[in-house]
Amino acid sequence: MLPTITIDDEKCKEPLSCRKCLLICPSYVFGLGTNVGPQKFREIALSHFIVRGVRFDKCSGCMECVEICPQNAIQVSF
Ligand code: SF4
Ligand code: SF4
Repeated sequence: MLPTITIDDEKCKEPLSCRKCLLICPSYVFGLGTNVGPQKFREIALSHFIVRGVRFDKCSGCMECVEICPQNAIQVSF
């Protein structure tokens, strides 16, 4: 069964600066994107970056992402 992985964007304001969940996930489940259309990378404000679960099928449920997130922004449930 695939997990439900949600990120609260109101809590995760600048994922490009934080990146803790991206770095710790042993299964590379997360991806970094933006909530704006195609733009030059250097012109995208930090506040427009977002983290999302991408490879849901690889999530082992270890909860390391949930534990390390300093903003308590991640929820993982099966
Ligand atoms: S660890 Fe939390 S605050 Fe940091 S990028 Fe991931 S979801 Fe955002
Ligand atoms: S629970 Fe573990 S495997 Fe799943 S997204 Fe979080 S860190 Fe990655």
